[in-house]
Amino acid sequence: SDATAAATTVDGSALAGRALAAAGTRHMFGVVGIPVTSLASRAAAAGVRFLAFRNEQSAGYAAAAYGFLTGAPGVLLTVSGPGCVHGLAGLSHATANAWPLLMVSGSCDQADAGRGDFQELDQVAATKPTWKILAKLAALAAAVSGRPGGCYLDIPSDVLHQTLPESEAAALIAAAANSAASDPAPAKHKSLDEGVEKAADLLRRAERPLVVIGKGAAYARAEEAIRKLVDTTGIPFLPTPMGKGVVPDSHPLSATAARSLAIGQCDVALVVGARLNWLLHFGEPPKWSKDVKFILVDVCEEEIELRKPCVGIVGDAKRVIELINREIKDNPFCLARSHPWVEAITKKAKDNVLKMEAQLAKDVVPFNFMTPLRIIRDAILAEGSPAPVVVSEGANTMDVGRAVLVQNEPRTRLDAGTWGTMGVGLGYCIAAAVAEPERLVVAVEGDSGFGFSAMEVETLVRYQLPVVVIVFNNNGVYGGDRRSPDEITGPYKDDPAPTSFVPAAGYHKMMEAFGGNGYLVETPDELKSALSVSFRARKPAVINIIIDPYAGAESGRMQHKN
Ligand code: ADP
Repeated sequence: SDATAAATTVDGSALAGRALAAAGTRHMFGVVGIPVTSLASRAAAAGVRFLAFRNEQSAGYAAAAYGFLTGAPGVLLTVSGPGCVHGLAGLSHATANAWPLLMVSGSCDQADAGRGDFQELDQVAATKPTWKILAKLAALAAAVSGRPGGCYLDIPSDVLHQTLPESEAAALIAAAANSAASDPAPAKHKSLDEGVEKAADLLRRAERPLVVIGKGAAYARAEEAIRKLVDTTGIPFLPTPMGKGVVPDSHPLSATAARSLAIGQCDVALVVGARLNWLLHFGEPPKWSKDVKFILVDVCEEEIELRKPCVGIVGDAKRVIELINREIKDNPFCLARSHPWVEAITKKAKDNVLKMEAQLAKDVVPFNFMTPLRIIRDAILAEGSPAPVVVSEGANTMDVGRAVLVQNEPRTRLDAGTWGTMGVGLGYCIAAAVAEPERLVVAVEGDSGFGFSAMEVETLVRYQLPVVVIVFNNNGVYGGDRRSPDEITGPYKDDPAPTSFVPAAGYHKMMEAFGGNGYLVETPDELKSALSVSFRARKPAVINIIIDPYAGAESGRMQHKN
């Protein structure tokens, strides 16, 4: 009754938990402690599944990946001070990758701030460089509007403990539900139609057109529209690492295996949801032709202003490509397979694929990177649809893996991303398992990448998630201690090399320690058997693959930057 409602009181923790639920939050990732323990259980009581991590850093990476996979902000909960600092990793990673995330952090008592309170930190100042907006629960809507990114919500301890009558709480919760329901789509840009017309015209007149598909297109769920564009125009496409799968890698117009030729010689590039940043060589010579005309489709106007393309279209990738498709339909064109450009790309791709397959076909033991990646690729492909989510990090493991592993479904690859962040793997796995419960999750990790967040194998076991973590164990970063004797000098010459870890570490035993399944493999047959058993079991597993420490290159393919 109204009388009882007026008499009951609600504290800040319950209010925040219920408001998050009312605003549509389904999952929350974090670590509890002072002052947010109650907030986590109150949110769970209101229907939000709380995934409790061992470190806020991994929880933050989980929330970031969840935002990418679902299009709803991943919510990260952290304790005050040091918890907030650890959480910054995820907040900034989300912003760097343009993925929606809301970090909710408890902070110290406002009354004691400035006098050395427990876990005191000016958290608003500390997080400021990385967030888009700071504004109560409108932050949830803000995380997904315009260019997605990280948002920060600070809740001081005294606010969490404050109480208010149930009737007032109910009104605030209703307001939170409404704020989340408001349309996050950006306002229609006045030049949209003009841009679409120009884009279609440029593509039609191009001699060597190319479609570049970024992870923004994957995020926008533009797969059907882009697939249709590629199929009706016959234009070859090149995905960025996380754009892989928007159009299947197996599609005959994939230019992945002819990347240098495609970007070096295209005369018009339609770039959808990808920044012309370091990953795409800034869109400049020598990798790109100096005369290439870019058509950029991005939800973020500043991005387009920054790059000054020939045609810039501000808008949602799915919507814009649908409009381009409609524009083309009135006057359709299609490059024939015998078109010299298409022929050049497909021939080059086929040659390169044959070369790579020849390398992959060999069973090299002790293992290089190629042999186990081929076996893993085939095991993943044998899973069919829904395809597993592949998580990948490391130097050589990620570089070689990007070329070998096949993505035929959108949003099935998660990797180090725009920042080249190492340590994302286990958090990503947990996010993928809860966001895509029908898919198996397979992480292909360098031993270094795995080590950043290896304790989260306990989290995998606790929630019994269908995640198989494969560790490429080559004794350290790039391959452990590979110094020549004359490089080893100075007072600390007897120390292990900064690149080295304990050789042949028993990473699989970490999983066994918590009751999951561990496998140590050194041969193709052992690997095939471990994959087959663990894929079928759909239970947490670590497969520890011993790799020849001399098989990899320093810095993977980024030697020039080290
Ligand atoms: P990649 O790493 O795949 O090259 P980037 O992270 O560099 O991709 O670029 C992704 C781009 O996608 C960002 O500039 C972002 O603003 C943009 N983006 C995000 N959401 C959308 C959307 N719905 N439609 C179009 N572009 C989007």
